[in-house]
Amino acid sequence: RQEVYRELRKKPSTTRDGVQVDLLMNAGLAVDLPQLAEAGAAGIGLFRTELQFMVASTFPRAEAQEKLYRDVLEAARGKPVTFRTIDIGGDKVLPYFKGAIQEENPALGWRAIRLTLDRPGLLRTQIRALLKASGGRELKLMLPMVTELGEIAQAREIIDREVRHLSRFAHHLPTSLKLGAMLEVPSLLFQLDELMKAVDFVSVGSNDLFQFVMAVDRGNTQLANRFDTLSAPFLRVLKQIADAGVRNHTPVTLCGELAGKPISAMALIGLGFRSISMSPASIGPVKAMLTELPLDELKAFFDDNLMAPAQGLPMRALLQAFADDR
Ligand code: PEP
Ligand code: MG
Repeated sequence: RQEVYRELRKKPSTTRDGVQVDLLMNAGLAVDLPQLAEAGAAGIGLFRTELQFMVASTFPRAEAQEKLYRDVLEAARGKPVTFRTIDIGGDKVLPYFKGAIQEENPALGWRAIRLTLDRPGLLRTQIRALLKASGGRELKLMLPMVTELGEIAQAREIIDREVRHLSRFAHHLPTSLKLGAMLEVPSLLFQLDELMKAVDFVSVGSNDLFQFVMAVDRGNTQLANRFDTLSAPFLRVLKQIADAGVRNHTPVTLCGELAGKPISAMALIGLGFRSISMSPASIGPVKAMLTELPLDELKAFFDDNLMAPAQGLPMRALLQAFADDR
């Protein structure tokens, strides 16, 4: 299998009928970087910057942050990298963060963009490090756990201020800056067009989006197999997101665990996703599926089944049958 995957690296990342789908990888630490070439990823679709904070015993200094981001961009050799601003709080606690509070429902609590907008010093330091590390290159930045569009506007103000600050001191700035939002909170589903217009790209965090749409704790093993990510309601949600992206000419990607399983990746591509980001080990198996996929037939399958699954069968069973038949 490994040999097959290695051979596949040289092949274009397209469906059997020639539609391109970018397969990107998720990363978070310098040790992940060699995987970029080994797995044959088209870039890094999600760089989890909080990992550097989680393995440290105090807040990483601005210089250490900048160095990591620079190393990541060097290792990427011009392939796109999307940095996510720190996603701490919830299940990701920093023992040294004195401001942390006790919460009854940490997943619904003071975390990610909520926390960093309240502690803008953290965000400012990180953004400055990212801007400096991206001098002369494109910077792609995304915000975790966005709930309202006002949060994007607030973050943008902080970013703009840092850009002005650095240009005043004649720093080498990024050639362009793309700001994206993660779609993880269901409130955004009811303002998809506004969301798409407010950002340069959207990335679906399907781990959290599934958790919040189904009201199921993503870490609860008792419930882990109870609800299906490939159930019709969740697939319809994903279709609406993909459609809104197309309608507004806003690139949409997905970077949760869903992207890494061939059957789920197949479903995502059928629903309209043309870029997905996964753990490096998944790229080979997903590419093997991709190159065999008759996308025109899968689209017809969804036209027939998404709103009314054949014989009332679960979508997973229908998708599995579709894959087995081919
Ligand atoms: C997600 O929620 O799907 C995601 C990619 O972010 P994380 O798993 O880091 O919460
Ligand atoms: Mg998440």
